[in-house]
Amino acid sequence: MKTEEIAELQKEYLMPTYAPSLALVEGSGTSVWDAEGNEYLDFVSGIAVTNIGHCHPKMVQAVQDQVETLVHVSNLYYNGKQPQLAKALSEHSGLLGAKCFFCNSGAEANEGLIKLARLWGSDKGKYEIVSMRQSFHGRTLATLTATGQDKVKTGFGPLPEGFVYADFNNLQSIEEAITPKTAAVLIEALQGEGGVISADPEFLSSLRKLCDEKGILLLCDEVQCGMGRTGRWFGFQNYDVQPDAFSLAKGLGNGFPIGAIVAGSTLADTFQVGHHATTFGGTPLACSAALSVIGVIEEEDLLANTLMMGAYLVEGLCEIAMKHKKWVAGIRGLGLLLGIVLDVPAFPLQKKLQEKGMLSLATAGNVLRLLPPLNVSQEEIDQALKLIREACEELHEEMAPLSPNPCECS
Ligand SMILES: *Cc1c(COP(=O)(O)O)cnc(C)c1O
Repeated sequence: MKTEEIAELQKEYLMPTYAPSLALVEGSGTSVWDAEGNEYLDFVSGIAVTNIGHCHPKMVQAVQDQVETLVHVSNLYYNGKQPQLAKALSEHSGLLGAKCFFCNSGAEANEGLIKLARLWGSDKGKYEIVSMRQSFHGRTLATLTATGQDKVKTGFGPLPEGFVYADFNNLQSIEEAITPKTAAVLIEALQGEGGVISADPEFLSSLRKLCDEKGILLLCDEVQCGMGRTGRWFGFQNYDVQPDAFSLAKGLGNGFPIGAIVAGSTLADTFQVGHHATTFGGTPLACSAALSVIGVIEEEDLLANTLMMGAYLVEGLCEIAMKHKKWVAGIRGLGLLLGIVLDVPAFPLQKKLQEKGMLSLATAGNVLRLLPPLNVSQEEIDQALKLIREACEELHEEMAPLSPNPCECS
């Protein structure tokens, strides 16, 4: 099927919730191909999902082996892959006595975190969740309510009660939002959808202290910045802070749907039999996929590669930013979750790059997000930098706004 045919079929039979412009039919490593056979350098990775690249041979093998052995059994029965995966996540989390619950998506993992916090607070009269403005936590009713952006909420009221908002990187704002009913503060160590904004180290450590003083849980949404994306297993590990629990999804299965809650000792045994469940949570197949992802990150030393390639990419991007100070404000992010911050809308740059054979993602209006796989090579980054350099040169005239901003890279 050609792109045009696919688009027509989609228009007729799919709810128009998305607006794609490209039909991708094949992937390998950092490359994807469209229905016409054009190759693209994939610096989106399915939005921080295919962290070990497309169709990594070890994952292909693991999924193939499992799919012909056992795909699904109910959680009514033991399935050895689940505790194996939970052990690996628990150990990498560094949280003492951490235990996991498996589900299928980021929203579902955060929904579970919220339920976990409410159950923990139920005998203390605590149920409110403080979340951050500009955050993103998912599209279920509870998680879209926790999301600090009106665009996901409009039209879906009445929304669940018990959610209040504060400003990211502003401790005072969180202090003001806390009441005797507050059960937890929910936060991303690095806001991805919000525009690639990382937490200030002092802010996050003061927040941990504040939560301890007030007897409140600190919950991290690691759906986007987890699984090595920032150069550490989990985003909070860039800081001297441990949450009481955190959520995972996106990169956990490299595209095989799986999400998780990982909870330290305070919350590890809060859910008891019957409190929470999901049919597909942690199937042998999903867990095999995730175990292979963790294996690849370990064996191929991808955390080190993420830090190294991230630094290399930032260096090249800063050079480009300096040349286009008139409309490029700077580069930010951690590891391989990076944003080129513009003084103008980012979509034209995304579009120009796509025409040149590179996928990137305009976010929060003026930020171009780059999320290559964690095993991206230096040659691929050089290729990306070349395309970004060309695109910026071609767009320079039309992008340069009237009032120039100084570049943060200088
Ligand atoms: C993508 C994302 C989610 C939602 O995950 P889904 O799998 O789409 O439900 C939640 N939180 C963050 C930080 C995300 O980036």
